[in-house]
Amino acid sequence: MIITIDGPAGSGKSTTARRAADALGYVYLDTGAMYRAVALGFLRADASATPESAEAVPADLHLDVRYENDEMHVLLGEDDVSDRIRTEEVGEMASQVSSFRAVREQLVEAQQRIGREQEDLHGGVLLDGRDTGTVVFPDADLKVFMVADVEERARRRKREYAQEGKDVPLDEIQASIEARDRRDRNRDIAPLRRADDAVILDTTDRSVDEQVAFVVDRVKERRESGTWGEGL
Ligand code: C5P
Repeated sequence: MIITIDGPAGSGKSTTARRAADALGYVYLDTGAMYRAVALGFLRADASATPESAEAVPADLHLDVRYENDEMHVLLGEDDVSDRIRTEEVGEMASQVSSFRAVREQLVEAQQRIGREQEDLHGGVLLDGRDTGTVVFPDADLKVFMVADVEERARRRKREYAQEGKDVPLDEIQASIEARDRRDRNRDIAPLRRADDAVILDTTDRSVDEQVAFVVDRVKERRESGTWGEGL
């Protein structure tokens, strides 16, 4: 079973996807982590985000995804960069390099291959990102589109920063989220948008437990109604 969860930055996708995958015995594929790894490669190569460098850099990165104890790791060559990609600088670069065709083509192909492999191994995979229900798996068995008010998304990010001991002003965080949303929604290739057949999950006033329960319940409905494997 293939389940896609798309939505803007800070809508709660990754936490929900990871926990729902655990609850269902499925595997989680974080497509944003792959764009972040490419972005880290750009930063390391001192390459600026231009379409020309996007043609040249990705093939040299040797991006790889591995699962250890069902946990996804992203590698550049043999270097496990799963933790190092979680910075604001890398997120900002990811938002820029993800608009380039050469980068997207390479990553979408890898995501389709890994998704199918993990589905075969575990019976199901949950992917999250911006285009997983529209481009990567348009025939997914279940598509969810997560949304939340931008103020609430900024507050969540602020709490995450605080947990890391960082004090970032709320208006700065909100401006950065809005800039990223704008770029994701307005790019020419695979813009962020809800697939016509995606279920909307507004997380503004929902706890993480409620979000996870929503996804798990929808999956169980699909399984029980026998529509699993037929697309939507
Ligand atoms: O979700 P996350 O913040 O880790 O993603 C980093 C960036 O990668 C996003 O801002 C977005 O521009 C890009 N991305 C994308 N398509 C995806 C996943 C992420 O364009 N499927």
